[in-house]
Amino acid sequence: MEVVENSLNNISKNSAVNAFAEIYADEAKERAREIDAKLADDRAGRLAGLVIAIKDNLCLNNHPAEAASAILSGSKAVYTATAIQRLLDEDAIIIGRNNCDEFGMGSSNENSKHGPVKNPVDPSRVAGGSSGGSAAAVAYGGCHIAIGSDTGGSGRQPAAFCGVLGLKPTYSRISRYGLIAYASSFDTIGILGKSVDDMALVLSCMAGYDPHDATSSRQKVQNFTRPDNTTKYKIAYVKDALMHDSLSTEVRDRTHEQLEALTNEGHQVEPLDFELLEYLLPTYYILTCAEASSNLARYDGVRYGERAKDANNLEEMYELTRSVGFGEEVKRRILTGTFVLSADYYDSYFSKAQKVRRLLRDETARAVSKYDFLITPTTPTTAFKLGEHAADPLAMYLSDLLTVQASVAGIPALSVPIGNDESGLPIGMQIMADNFQENKLLSFANYLLSLN
Ligand code: GLN
Repeated sequence: MEVVENSLNNISKNSAVNAFAEIYADEAKERAREIDAKLADDRAGRLAGLVIAIKDNLCLNNHPAEAASAILSGSKAVYTATAIQRLLDEDAIIIGRNNCDEFGMGSSNENSKHGPVKNPVDPSRVAGGSSGGSAAAVAYGGCHIAIGSDTGGSGRQPAAFCGVLGLKPTYSRISRYGLIAYASSFDTIGILGKSVDDMALVLSCMAGYDPHDATSSRQKVQNFTRPDNTTKYKIAYVKDALMHDSLSTEVRDRTHEQLEALTNEGHQVEPLDFELLEYLLPTYYILTCAEASSNLARYDGVRYGERAKDANNLEEMYELTRSVGFGEEVKRRILTGTFVLSADYYDSYFSKAQKVRRLLRDETARAVSKYDFLITPTTPTTAFKLGEHAADPLAMYLSDLLTVQASVAGIPALSVPIGNDESGLPIGMQIMADNFQENKLLSFANYLLSLN
């Protein structure tokens, strides 16, 4: 009970951050009472005492799931996402649903029907996106763990901006059943937290095959093992990423310092050429927009959420519902996606991007098979000002430059806080590893935290 009250206090003290779309205070207290009773007679699950927040694009039966979109206003989930059910089965307590960018599309949490999320470190700055509410809530102690989603960096980038840890697991590691789809071949459920142990425990509860998601992996779920500080790793940093013009000096310098510290600790640290870096963002955006335009076709005013009232016929009803219900960024992506999938442009955009994705995957797979970890900064800069990129979508997309590689390749990646810039804003470093190496990533993250 105490943990729930503590979270609720922190949430109310930080209400201006706007990290939550809704708080389930009474329900959480009720559940805490039940779990306290279970604890008293030793019947409690593995997650008893853990307070969890879930992103607004995850289904919890009989609770609203709006993906921060006006088109889903008032929509309630009619079932619970597998990943969330597995947490409930282990006695986790859900404290509320987090604000996010509409359908997970954005890098600043400014595209939300619930309004923007502010960075708890500096309220004039963004918390990152799309899981901005999740990262902010973890940062100010609104929950122990936030379950977000990560399609191209949505868990890692806000984690870096708010100074917490963010894990994107291997694609297929956690069932997507009950996660509102954005780009199905990239979507993963992400975990944000401050404690590596908690994140590892939550991952081991959520991961594993689910008959409701045909893409979920049958690979065995390993148990997290305590880090072995004597292991010396072979590490590569992506040279082209560290040299990129968009990097701020402070992010570059801090990452180099961290790499130096690793070398001094006896790890083998080498530069790695990745000349395909400039193809990452175009490939990611062409393919995710294409998938989004198809996934979002289902919001037609008939089956879900809001319906426009003043239409004279069916066609007009579709048109009006979608024009009013979707925000600007979502519309931009649906239009882009429809364009790249259209008969005249399919070959020059969509199928070409699929081929480039294969090259990027192969090249990345080669690197992660040669090294234990690939390292880049998580983001080119620290948190930017609210509204700073509002008029320039390309500048906004650039903040995903370094996170989309793991998403295009499907490999796991984790953002670890490695200090702050001169104005006190958090800096994150990204570590990537081979498929299903989440344990190794978590152990290494723990080790990195101990170095700082
Ligand atoms: N910012 C990226 C995008 O807008 C990533 C979002 C995400 O991972 N959901 O697509």
